[in-house]
Amino acid sequence: MRIVQARFVGAFMDPAKCPADRPAIAFTGRSNVGKSSLVNRFCNRVIARTSKTPGRTRQLVYFDLESDRTKPFYLVDLPGYGYAAGPEAERKAFTRAARKLLADPARRAAVVQLVDVSVPWQDSDLEMIEWLLEDDVPFVLALTKCDRVNRSAPARKLAELRTLVSWREDVDVIATSAKDNEGIVPLRKWAEGVLAEAQRATRKE
Ligand code: GDP
Repeated sequence: MRIVQARFVGAFMDPAKCPADRPAIAFTGRSNVGKSSLVNRFCNRVIARTSKTPGRTRQLVYFDLESDRTKPFYLVDLPGYGYAAGPEAERKAFTRAARKLLADPARRAAVVQLVDVSVPWQDSDLEMIEWLLEDDVPFVLALTKCDRVNRSAPARKLAELRTLVSWREDVDVIATSAKDNEGIVPLRKWAEGVLAEAQRATRKE
């Protein structure tokens, strides 16, 4: 699919107040993982701001996307996790609320979980991945910055993950590089698939 239009909808502090009238694909990952760069590549236009102050915001940023192959959908840019910015109680409350949003099939079609292939596994990533697996949230693991490592690194990274969490082989993994445009077409194809699935599920209800 090709994204033909992208429009900023709004930035929401309270996940309970987020729009729910369209399927959403949520992008999540640690601060500095390369999320904004990948979102911009995915949309083929600059919509997300890159190199923000890490962990500065606690907002869910919604974009309305139109593609040539799917019904309109939302792309949700979640705040990067892993940085201890702001009071702990506030951070925890936001994480709880954001996970509630991600766990709700009516409000998210699927999640793009980003992990930087060029840094060792971090507890915050493992914890997030465990949660996605346990709560049966449909997601793709997108390894970012693959241009920084050799060809065998993505497979090695995944092999390590298998020893660290109860990995499920049905979860898709895509090696990406926003710098080299690697993995962007497969990521769009994956999105097309999950959006079609979300639409089928809605029709059945
Ligand atoms: P965010 O904080 O997760 O939104 O990450 P950004 O997209 O702002 O990127 C964080 C840093 O990583 C910036 O310095 C980017 O230039 C760099 N970066 C992002 N994607 C890539 C990539 O695919 N390859 C390389 N080498 N650097 C990247």
